[in-house]
Amino acid sequence: MKVALVLPLLTCAAIATPVSIHDTAQSPFGAITAAKYPGFDLDLDALRLVQFEGQTEPVLVTELAKIQAKAQGVAFFDVTDTLGLGSRAHLRDAQKTFPAPRHPDGVHSVLENLEIQNLRENLEKFTSFRNRYYRSDTGKASQKWLLGKIKEITRNSASKTLRDVISIQEFLHPWPQSSIIARINGSLTADDGVIIISAHQDSTNKWPYLPAPGADDDGSGTMSILEAYRALIASDFHPERAVEFHWYAAEEGGLLGSQAVAQAYEDCDVNVVATIQFDMTAWVKNGTREEVGIITDFVDPVLTEYNKKLVELYLDIPWVATKCGFACSDHASWTKAGYPASSLIESQWENNNREHAHTTHDRYDVSEEFSFSHMLEFSKLAVAFAVELGGWQR
Ligand SMILES: [Zn+2]
Repeated sequence: MKVALVLPLLTCAAIATPVSIHDTAQSPFGAITAAKYPGFDLDLDALRLVQFEGQTEPVLVTELAKIQAKAQGVAFFDVTDTLGLGSRAHLRDAQKTFPAPRHPDGVHSVLENLEIQNLRENLEKFTSFRNRYYRSDTGKASQKWLLGKIKEITRNSASKTLRDVISIQEFLHPWPQSSIIARINGSLTADDGVIIISAHQDSTNKWPYLPAPGADDDGSGTMSILEAYRALIASDFHPERAVEFHWYAAEEGGLLGSQAVAQAYEDCDVNVVATIQFDMTAWVKNGTREEVGIITDFVDPVLTEYNKKLVELYLDIPWVATKCGFACSDHASWTKAGYPASSLIESQWENNNREHAHTTHDRYDVSEEFSFSHMLEFSKLAVAFAVELGGWQR
């Protein structure tokens, strides 16, 4: 079904303008939920345009139908606000290449500064919000806490000269929870490239009104890259090329936050050189080998090979190739936009923590299988990605 929508006009300095689709039909839950679940800005009757695997055209479904599909394990893009994403992908260079890793001293100097205790402390706080649903008050509050933590870390860890080249911004969306972008400018003005390291900050229960601590999905990835950011700036990392850390809102709503960001970058013709997504980094299933799952579908194959080298050079555990399916996490938004994207997960797909994901049991204290040292291995990879692809003349 084709539906004409008016897309918001974006400027390259500013960010997405809210688009709302109002629907007056009453949902079977509408009246009840409004009274029973205060603090949610969620209209179950709202119409959304959704792209499922294998469909050439998006389909119009209600928010409720979208939630039900998700609960059944069906992944999708909600393209309501980003119908044009990827329309200019063909204008960019075809295949990118990446130089062989050449900054071992720089990477190792940062790895020494990683601290496992920070992962634990920050995740403890982050999972204390009732849920981090992108259309909830607590999802907004958790986002504000994360923003404050990034600012605090930057104040406390970065030198004055480094602080001068760091910006920390909220990327606003039509729902309460913002995405967050922390950027370290590159020192080479001739290089307009950007390296992006990302995770999603939101969480959900299968039924969004229920509690969702989201410790593994994706509190773990959120904290793995936050600790990488802290260690990098504490090591006075001045990249040659801009390095950005993104914490997306609304991944669980159909990759909404990352699509909005990717759309804005595409509209502004930003030269995104490489992206890497960290979604679930904590679980080591009993009886399995501890390893880094390198996702091989809907990613850039050359960048994915590059990440295998980084794991071999800088991590204490091996990689394993695995697949996670259509629209399974935010890297898919960058792939759709035609930018080199890569993605990681805690294990081979079949050994991940999906038993607890999207339930009230996605907690760090639910099992010994939840491992902070495993999360730290992913921090190492984020550090290596930043230094090797961002460059660093020390
Ligand atoms: Zn996730």
